[in-house]
Amino acid sequence: LMHLTRKLIEIRTMLLSIDQSDTLKLPSIVVIGSQSSGKSSVLEAIVGHEFLPKGNNMVTRRPIELTLIHTPDVKEEYGEFPALGLGKITDFSNIQRTLTDLNVAVPADEAVSNDPIDLRIYSSRVPDLTLIDLPGYIQITSMDQPDSLKEKIAGLCEKYIREPNIILAVCAADVDLANSPALRASRNVDLLGLRTIGVVTKMDLVSPEQGVAILSGNKYPLHLGYVGVVAKAPGKAHRRESATPVAHKAETDFFKTHKEFFGDASSPSGSGLMVGTDMLRRRLMDVLESSMASSLHGISNAVQLELEEARYQFKVQYNDRRISAESYVAETVDALKARFKEFTVQFRKPQIRSKLKEMLDEKVMDVLEQLYWSDKRAAELDALGADPRVKPEDVESYWRYKLEAASSLLTKSGVGRDSTLLVADGLRALIDSIAAREPFTFHPKAAERLIEFSHAILRDRIGVTSDSVENCIKPYKYEVEVDEREWEQGRTQAVDLFERELKMCESKLSEIRKKVGGSRRLSSLVGYVKRLEEEELERKQRRLAGVEDDAQSLDEATEKKKREADDYRYPPAQVLDARHAMLYSERSNALKLRLAALRSKRCKTGPNQDLLCPEAFLNVVAEKLAYTSAMFINIELLDQFFYQFPREIDSRLLYDLDRKEIVAFARENPAIRKHLDLQDRKDKLEEVMKQLNSLSTLRKDAVPTPRRH
Ligand code: GDP
Repeated sequence: LMHLTRKLIEIRTMLLSIDQSDTLKLPSIVVIGSQSSGKSSVLEAIVGHEFLPKGNNMVTRRPIELTLIHTPDVKEEYGEFPALGLGKITDFSNIQRTLTDLNVAVPADEAVSNDPIDLRIYSSRVPDLTLIDLPGYIQITSMDQPDSLKEKIAGLCEKYIREPNIILAVCAADVDLANSPALRASRNVDLLGLRTIGVVTKMDLVSPEQGVAILSGNKYPLHLGYVGVVAKAPGKAHRRESATPVAHKAETDFFKTHKEFFGDASSPSGSGLMVGTDMLRRRLMDVLESSMASSLHGISNAVQLELEEARYQFKVQYNDRRISAESYVAETVDALKARFKEFTVQFRKPQIRSKLKEMLDEKVMDVLEQLYWSDKRAAELDALGADPRVKPEDVESYWRYKLEAASSLLTKSGVGRDSTLLVADGLRALIDSIAAREPFTFHPKAAERLIEFSHAILRDRIGVTSDSVENCIKPYKYEVEVDEREWEQGRTQAVDLFERELKMCESKLSEIRKKVGGSRRLSSLVGYVKRLEEEELERKQRRLAGVEDDAQSLDEATEKKKREADDYRYPPAQVLDARHAMLYSERSNALKLRLAALRSKRCKTGPNQDLLCPEAFLNVVAEKLAYTSAMFINIELLDQFFYQFPREIDSRLLYDLDRKEIVAFARENPAIRKHLDLQDRKDKLEEVMKQLNSLSTLRKDAVPTPRRH
């Protein structure tokens, strides 16, 4: 029969982990009593150890769900707080300290918390029992306790003493039972005392006659009766010694001494009175067991209903698809790799080449602007070969030198570093965008790790790659050979590039035109800017010639007035626009000229015209640089990254997570959490149902325990 209670206690614990609702509850014994009634002493006597928090100030601030598990072959008794994960605690003073800490941790303004502490004790000396220790009823509210405290405790107790729990009402023999808050509370919910056991402590403080009168229960009858105990060693008024063998011996001695009143403690049937801690334990086990047994039918039905509902929901919502935290982690990793692979298409060689070419095109434009467009001898280029007055031998060496300078400006512009960084930035942006999407939005820490290690791989490779690219383009720094086909390609690309640039300039121009209010307004603004520039030039020349600028010194006032008028007619912001417009139109004129040259018959002739068409030549150089860079970036950076990244995912993204961390990770995703919760609930209910079914076979063989009243 021991077996039954034990099983039921297990089932009760399981049910508690499923649900805190009232429908799925097996009974437990709830211990209530007023302060100093000896409640702690009784509990400790049952457990056989001192383990409850001590102190004058009310110290039980949270209910303690105490589960005693009779463990015959355990070497050393121990306690466990499953929620805290502290492992086995064999030192009971340690348990006491932990309970005190947990109590103290309850915020002062709450004073009492509803959240129970789960404590399990495994010992060969304890019976299989579940007991709930509640804060003691307080009679007088002291100054430092909030007014509502009394009601709060009463409310908490009331919640716990509801059916089907058994009430252990602790009262002291030396206090009139009529004044016992515990009995009063129990009577409110259990008038006949069908599920209330009275424990009368401090039997040693009243005369045996009085004691017998109380225990016989004539005045305040309880169906389950009263048990009298002495839960304190004699002669020690201040220290509680309830749990020690000394205390136990004191109790045995006391009842032996008054055998004629209480009967023999070991066979109490004579007097019909129940006395002693051993008797109390047996009584509690009997009552708990029969109470659990009678709850069994109801609880089986309730569990069956809940299980059916859970099964239905699991079917409807998830089509019975089971998942686990591990499978979620594996799926996440696979999906990540797959998505990454998908994106790597953007990083094939042709894509990289065209990206690099774009970057180099810009560099070409910069070089041209720097070396050619502002060159005062630019007209020579157009005249060369067309105008007989311009003799090649006079000008060629100048333009040859220029072309070489331009080419080397391009090849020595740090192509290795720039192209490597360009691709690395692209990879970084790719990873960042993956990390910013589901499911990583739910897993900020994993996303951070993902970004961290992929950036680290890149950091590692950037130096090597850029050196290797720089090394491989070295020959171009000295000489670039161009064949016919390359030339033609370079020339058409240069045309494209210039056309694009021209379009850009013109759209900017028309934007400005619109902004200042039309082309006439713009040309008047431009006229003004030109005048300003001329004046400025004049002043400069005069200063250089040593002539005093007397206009300025003569009539400063007139000058100032004129400036103000100008400011009014030509607001500075518009003057700035006009200056920009002038730059754009200058540039678009230059571009038009060069486009004409690039389209000319002579430019089409071939690479021997490189002096005349530096744009085509530089384009060929850029193309060669892009090609070579792409090749080596592919080998040194991309191949390495694509090889290493998936491996790093395996070894560093979710590596060495233990079971608990894997579950925590999976539960970060709300959809997965919901799925797991329902699945878990269903599984637990199924397990409970299985256990309950196996019990019903057990119960058939069980002989009902005779009740003593
Ligand atoms: P609680 O506040 O209800 O937990 O009461 P305690 O267990 O702390 O006991 C209150 C006081 O009564 C302590 O000083 C105990 O030593 C004392 N006490 C408890 N049980 C007995 C008993 O059976 N006989 C005597 N004489 N004193 C007891």
